[in-house]
Amino acid sequence: MSTIEKDSVVELHYTVKDHDGETLESSRENGALHYLHGHNNLIPGLENALAGRKAGDTFMVDIVADEAYGQRNETMVHTVDIESFAHIEDLSVGMRLQGQTDQGVVAFMVTDITDGKVTVDANHPLAGMDLKFDVDVVSVREASAEEIEHGHVHGPGGHHH
Ligand code: ZN
Repeated sequence: MSTIEKDSVVELHYTVKDHDGETLESSRENGALHYLHGHNNLIPGLENALAGRKAGDTFMVDIVADEAYGQRNETMVHTVDIESFAHIEDLSVGMRLQGQTDQGVVAFMVTDITDGKVTVDANHPLAGMDLKFDVDVVSVREASAEEIEHGHVHGPGGHHH
């Protein structure tokens, strides 16, 4: 298989920047991203931009917030008493934590600590942002039946189980 289509396993490098061109994150620091195409494993704008590409392709794509991490939702910002965090050592602004809620485990970030109150934000850190991706497609292969069944990649860069 040479081009990216449903059930391709894709290895890629990406750098994501905000609309001012400031780098937010890059796979070049943490190792290539491996994903199974067509299973909602990536943000929609990036997955759409990858369809039909092949190994060796390099491209840039602008992705609006709605096709990236969605709009911010202010109901996902909460202010709680600092006593709720008594078990956390060195609580500080910018710290990322996980909490059990009615919706399961939710990741959030501490955004403010004032007068014994802590503000936490469960929005994705890139929610509400228009993004620019700079992508290198490293390799493309066909997924195994087991990978398709699980909906994710096995082996290097994927799940080991
Ligand atoms: Zn699996």
